[in-house]
Amino acid sequence: MDRYNKITKKFPREIVLLKAYPCKWGRCRFCDYIEDNSMHEQEIFRVNQEVLSHVTGEFGVLEVIDSASCFELPKSSLDLIKEVIDKKDIKKLFLESHWIYRHRLQEMREFFEIPILFKIGVETFDNDFRERILNKNANFQTPQQVAKYFDSPCIMVGMQGQTKEMIRKDIAFARRYFSHATINVYTNNTTCIKRDENLIKWFQEEFKSLDQNPYIEVLWQNTDFGVGD
Ligand code: SF4
Repeated sequence: MDRYNKITKKFPREIVLLKAYPCKWGRCRFCDYIEDNSMHEQEIFRVNQEVLSHVTGEFGVLEVIDSASCFELPKSSLDLIKEVIDKKDIKKLFLESHWIYRHRLQEMREFFEIPILFKIGVETFDNDFRERILNKNANFQTPQQVAKYFDSPCIMVGMQGQTKEMIRKDIAFARRYFSHATINVYTNNTTCIKRDENLIKWFQEEFKSLDQNPYIEVLWQNTDFGVGD
């Protein structure tokens, strides 16, 4: 599995995919990447120390992701990240968290002492699809509520059951209420949620121009950030 990469197109930064404790929620219907989680702090530390050793600081920006929320990183791994930030003169951090931790984001800000862009996997702003079909456990009602806590929504596109109308709305909300957004085109995995090839084809044609949008990053494949497998 690739755990380190440089993103050079939009928002140049280094990105690391760290190992973490199991996702506290762990029940989203489309998710099987929690298989990367571990219960063993020593194993997590060993993997994360090696991955973080690649960070050079060349862009001054570091994105840290794991197959859970940043709050599922053990303290010893948070200390490693902090060390790298100090040593490599990182000035901005990208982190990701589930909605359930929205009241704790300030803890990370105080710990790292640099500006943080907080991402959240909303998948869609359509409340019924997100909660009833995807079982996301992020029961906000409006994008404004999300924007109160988070800077950047991650939106999933191309799952069976989604509609063009939902996708149009999701992208309009991402543009209107957030300074940054990530659109993930859905990739089939071991779960029962499957790709809708026709919908993805439509999306590729209709939203080609997003590639030129400086604030929106589109992952046409889930490995487009160069990490994961
Ligand atoms: S919150 Fe994220 S890691 Fe946890 S189950 Fe849902 S998609 Fe998977």
